[in-house]
Amino acid sequence: MSETNIVNRRKVALVTGANKGIGYEIAAGLGALGWSVGVGARNEERREAAVEKLRAAGADAFGVPLDVTDDASVTAAARLVEERAGRLDALVNNAGITGGPQEPTTVDPDRVRAAVETNVIGVIRVTNALLPLLRRSPSPRIVNVSSSVGSLTLQTTPGAETGPISVAYAPSKTFLNAVTVQYAKELAGTNILVNAVCPGFTATDLNGFRGVRTPQQGATSAIRLATVPDDGPTGRFFDDEGEVPW
Ligand code: NAP
Repeated sequence: MSETNIVNRRKVALVTGANKGIGYEIAAGLGALGWSVGVGARNEERREAAVEKLRAAGADAFGVPLDVTDDASVTAAARLVEERAGRLDALVNNAGITGGPQEPTTVDPDRVRAAVETNVIGVIRVTNALLPLLRRSPSPRIVNVSSSVGSLTLQTTPGAETGPISVAYAPSKTFLNAVTVQYAKELAGTNILVNAVCPGFTATDLNGFRGVRTPQQGATSAIRLATVPDDGPTGRFFDDEGEVPW
């Protein structure tokens, strides 16, 4: 039997930004469930190191060169997944950046542009390129890794913990939340479930490892929504505790 046929019996996921941090652990968690996992990452050395580590742990992992800000890279990634697996059962849009200082009154507008390009436009670019492969799955799932700092409800609730004042990262996650709702609305009535998740404050490069959760803990809500049954939610926002207000 060809390798493609063997892979086809497994569920197939693509995780963006999976060379480290939460994305790596999402890939590891899905791999441990027997899924074939595409490790989407732009840096070749770190991507291949992640693939090796996942394989050593028994996962059916494969590398997918991917810069979510680059049309040609995303098109090539979709082609690679098609050749390798023929379809996609779950897309986890995890790649994200914060940028440096971003107080509204002093921010460099390029910092806002960069956050939106990666955290929002990147998600749209990757999702639309992979949608034809998702449509071939009997139970397609799209999971957008957002953040509770993007919740306008929490941002305007006195005393709620929403991190530092930020006019790039936090609003980019608010935008991503809104994008998630719009995809869910357009895809309502199909079998594609689209949700956003918040990993919680997790120790990764993103925050200089100041987070209080482990990357494995940060990965659990994305893994849950990537594997949710057909009668599961769509157009909603979750963390490990339950629903997060928009
Ligand atoms: P991380 O360790 O910095 O990982 C971010 C990943 O995104 C890296 O693999 C990075 O790849 C990748 N990435 C960035 N820009 C990319 C691009 N243009 N194309 C492809 N990949 C790109 O951070 P993390 O904490 O695991 O973050 C993962 C997600 O969780 C992000 O969306 C973040 O906003 C969200 N989140 C994190 C926390 C937290 O406390 N850590 C809380 C809430 C939400 P490179 O190595 O090539 O840069």
